[in-house]
Amino acid sequence: MWNGKSKAVTFSYDDGVTQDLRLIELFDKYGLKGTFNINSGHFGKDMSIVRNGVQISHKRFSGSDIARVYKNHEVAAHTLTHPNLTTLDEKDIIYQVEQDRLTLSDIVGYEVFAMAYPGGGVNNDDRVAKVVRDYTGVKFARTTTSTYSFDKQTNLYRFDPTVYHHGDGIKKCREVAERFFDLRSDEPQLLYIWGHSFELDIHDDWAEMEELLLYLANRDDVFYGTNSEVLL
Ligand SMILES: [Zn+2]
Repeated sequence: MWNGKSKAVTFSYDDGVTQDLRLIELFDKYGLKGTFNINSGHFGKDMSIVRNGVQISHKRFSGSDIARVYKNHEVAAHTLTHPNLTTLDEKDIIYQVEQDRLTLSDIVGYEVFAMAYPGGGVNNDDRVAKVVRDYTGVKFARTTTSTYSFDKQTNLYRFDPTVYHHGDGIKKCREVAERFFDLRSDEPQLLYIWGHSFELDIHDDWAEMEELLLYLANRDDVFYGTNSEVLL
């Protein structure tokens, strides 16, 4: 239960790109809370990437922007430089996670506990999760595998999100959200949406995203919190 409420909504967005600012404006407008998973080794890098045949900006915030941009939300680790952790040995996994976590903790002035595994596809496994659990200060780590479910999960070091706003689509998020709000359960139920804010630029899905956020917001029986607030 969260503040006596049996339902919670949270968001998780990756890479610390400058489009986060626009998404955060929407989160703040509708009273929503999210966790932003950031690669401190890429601070200030100005790049673009091609997604679905469209070239879009993938510019990262500078370290000096982080505390201000994310002040109403949670900052979380995403490794220093975004390697696929399943390809690294134990020492390098610890370095990538812990250096990122400690750098971000210094910047924001609180201890960073959250993490999302970098990279799509198979970006984590039991070995990596065990290293993160046993040798870093991370308390939970998100995968990219949609569950379409709201049930409590036992393995917080391979925590699966409910739905992906881009890969599954915003329409799918809306369907899942309708099912979430209709659900009557005695158990706590969590709707966990993840993505990258730059994906909203690909087909200019910002208006559709705002409609989804408006639909999710302002419900008396729902707790809106960061990942740490809903998972720990
Ligand atoms: Zn990423």
